[in-house]
Amino acid sequence: MAKERVKVLIIGSGPAGFTAAIYAARAGMKPVLYQGGQPGGQLTITTDVENYPGYPEGIMGPQMMVDFQKQAERFGTDIRSGMITAVDFSGWPHKVTVDGKDEIEAEAVIISTGAAAKWLGLESEQRLNGRGVSACAVCDGFFFRGQDVAIVGAGDTAAEEATYLSKLVNKVYMLVRRDEMRASKIMQQRVMNAPNIEVLWNTETVEVEGGEEVEGVKVRNTQTGEERVLPVQGFFVAIGHEPNTAIFKDYIDMDESGYIKTIPGTSKTNVPGVFATGDAQDKNYRQAVTAAGSGCMGALDAERFIAEKEVEMQEAEV
Ligand code: NDP
Repeated sequence: MAKERVKVLIIGSGPAGFTAAIYAARAGMKPVLYQGGQPGGQLTITTDVENYPGYPEGIMGPQMMVDFQKQAERFGTDIRSGMITAVDFSGWPHKVTVDGKDEIEAEAVIISTGAAAKWLGLESEQRLNGRGVSACAVCDGFFFRGQDVAIVGAGDTAAEEATYLSKLVNKVYMLVRRDEMRASKIMQQRVMNAPNIEVLWNTETVEVEGGEEVEGVKVRNTQTGEERVLPVQGFFVAIGHEPNTAIFKDYIDMDESGYIKTIPGTSKTNVPGVFATGDAQDKNYRQAVTAAGSGCMGALDAERFIAEKEVEMQEAEV
């Protein structure tokens, strides 16, 4: 079992993690960054990013993350593959375990673990994932041009994605489990205005059907109990996201959905020396640019924390 000590440990490799790395590296803190299970984060499963300032023609999500990584490396970030599998924030320095075996002690930890799409939890949904089942209309809608699809969810994401899909595909069934949508009025209006979106209220998904690829979706009306099969080739799940924060729950304060609580206007968590950035602490904005901005805050907060800690230690020695 290897053991080492680092000044700044960054967990995660999306816009938040890499931006924290750029700032920490330029400040001479020799950050070590663990990429986690999806190097580059959620942007690696999107196509065009057109709302990140500085790219007037837009950029592909995966390419953008390659650029972020290069910029972090240029200033000396130590980028490693591997998962942080456990943490111990009960004392200081903070301890983390990598891939269940190696231990690292860190003076400051920046959590940039992001969020992941939620799934319904059906066996058929997982079996056909990537074969007609998707959690990202913007990434995969293109493959269903001219076909029929269903999308489940009733929040802003589902409304936005249904509207997006309606411009590409022949017909969109939107499966709403209650008799109303959670989405904002303007988003609902867009759904209602699209001639090829049919909203099925009080409808739950029973099964995604198909052998090798999606061939239909069996749905049930929760009021009447009636079941029917929608003949669709694509099935999109847009029921929200879950922050990747489970390993921190014994130490870090979170809201009821698992989003890390930070002191407003900072990246500080309830544990001194542990900072949270990006989607792991943001359920409202969830944008590349806001994640990058919060990554910057994480690095600056970490830098100040370490400087104060050094003064504290020098005073203790005197
Ligand atoms: P939300 O949590 O807001 O909505 C999730 C939706 O999925 C709800 O309608 C919920 O139904 C439904 N749902 C959850 N579980 C199931 C299930 N098992 N079966 C069927 N339906 C289910 O997530 P979003 O991703 O939509 O939005 C997250 C945040 O991001 C929100 O604050 C939203 O406003 C924001 N956002 C803003 C956008 C914009 O302004 N452009 C775009 C996208 C997101 P129920 O209502 O019954 O609970």
